[in-house]
Amino acid sequence: MSTPEMLHPELLAPDDTHGILRDGHRLDHAEGASKPLRSRPEPQPPGAKVHGSRPIDQAEAAARFIDAPEHEKMHDERLWDLRQKRDREMHGIAEWEELRSLASAIKEHTLTRLDRYLEQFEANAQSNGINVHWARDAAEHNRLIHGILSDHGAKSLIKSKSMLTEECGFRPYMASVGIDVIETDLGERIQQLDNEDPSHIVVPAVHKLRTDVAEVFAKKIGTDPANSDVHYLAEAQREATRPLILKADAGMTGCNFAVAETGTFVVCTNEGNADLSANVPKLHIAWIGIEKIIPRLEHLAVFVRLLSRSALGSPVTQYTSHFRGPRAGGEMHIVLVDNGRSERLGVEEFWTSLKCIRCGACMNTCPVYRRSGGLSYGATYSGPIGLIIDPTFNQRKYSNLPFASTLNGSCTNVCPVKINIHEQIYAWRRVLVERHETPLAKRAEMKVAGELLSRPAAYRAAVAAADVALAHLPRFVIYNGLNAWGRHRDVPHPPKQTFHSWYQANRGGKQ
Ligand code: SF4
Repeated sequence: MSTPEMLHPELLAPDDTHGILRDGHRLDHAEGASKPLRSRPEPQPPGAKVHGSRPIDQAEAAARFIDAPEHEKMHDERLWDLRQKRDREMHGIAEWEELRSLASAIKEHTLTRLDRYLEQFEANAQSNGINVHWARDAAEHNRLIHGILSDHGAKSLIKSKSMLTEECGFRPYMASVGIDVIETDLGERIQQLDNEDPSHIVVPAVHKLRTDVAEVFAKKIGTDPANSDVHYLAEAQREATRPLILKADAGMTGCNFAVAETGTFVVCTNEGNADLSANVPKLHIAWIGIEKIIPRLEHLAVFVRLLSRSALGSPVTQYTSHFRGPRAGGEMHIVLVDNGRSERLGVEEFWTSLKCIRCGACMNTCPVYRRSGGLSYGATYSGPIGLIIDPTFNQRKYSNLPFASTLNGSCTNVCPVKINIHEQIYAWRRVLVERHETPLAKRAEMKVAGELLSRPAAYRAAVAAADVALAHLPRFVIYNGLNAWGRHRDVPHPPKQTFHSWYQANRGGKQ
């Protein structure tokens, strides 16, 4: 790899051409972990993509990711690094647990009075000069925004990152009506140019090596395919995108928090890209999921202290931008989007998933997510929170996802708004089995397991038979192409004696 050409020589670490110094310290950049390990870069493994309602095979897509060792190692290390930084920040705040409890209580309070706070927000936003619209679902959201853009004759749109627009299939819809959409978040722009969904809700291209990005940029914006220096790539992307931003007809932003008492909303970014989207064109449209409402401005402090620390292990996002109305000569619209949220709010076991502030901490800590990559889930939301949200959109299609978890509870422990994530994942398994949404073979296996586990004598006889079989059967019986279980696992040697027989022999009959 060539020396980073765009950097001032003083910024280069003397003993490491990849290292970057600032104020005498080597910067702790995540990309340090993404150096190509071989001269021939490892290709990016494809994720899972299924059209229609056929169930996603997450395990199969995860196996492809694991079979790409450089990607798997980088992804695991990069996200674990974020988890460790989050822990360091958490330990720096003595009242961390109180903040989590407060955030959870504010969200539960708001969600149980959502109609009232939404109406208050609407009235206050209107009195600030904002046009407020409501969208029942994705189709209405897309049509509404298209209508606003058409009224202004807008043909190009710059937007900041938003999972809600991913939910709504916004970019494909805009392409179908001839409107150019330009993502302004770097990671999201990389994914857009690669025609891929985001793989993480905070860091959308985190599954990519630098060499993957170099390949995409070489094809789409004409950079040197052999140069995967992050600063070169970021600068090239800035040069390519900035003119598009400057001449865009409209700008769109999402929203992290919408404050009912003021009718204002807040967008948190690290690149300042939402501010470009909001302030360069005269027309600013913001889409807001209805669960983003908080009652009062003072509540914002609780969430802002938790969000960035939980997401990236940084004390605060670089930009926490407050929007309260159109700027002089401009126009502002807000679209309040339901898209299944009211229905979820009415489901006893899963409504608290609406407390989510999309920090991604549950993904960064999840051993399954870290090793399988977000695209293996084949859904808008991946990782632990995705396992709860995705089946609310399509139970058949996402029926395998709640099984992609060890249920270790780490996601629940890091969640800043105290969602009982692993319990909801477990509850989904039960719901999906009861509704016959899981494959027949899995249901049959579960039935047999249930019978065995509820009959101690039958269970012990089965264990004894399995021990004998394991000791004598040839290896190919377990490790063959037909047995997916054996592909990534080694069966341990059966012990000479089971715990039960040892207990009977040594402790049997004793109290
Ligand atoms: S479920 Fe909790 S930890 Fe996961 S993204 Fe949402 S707020 Fe963050």
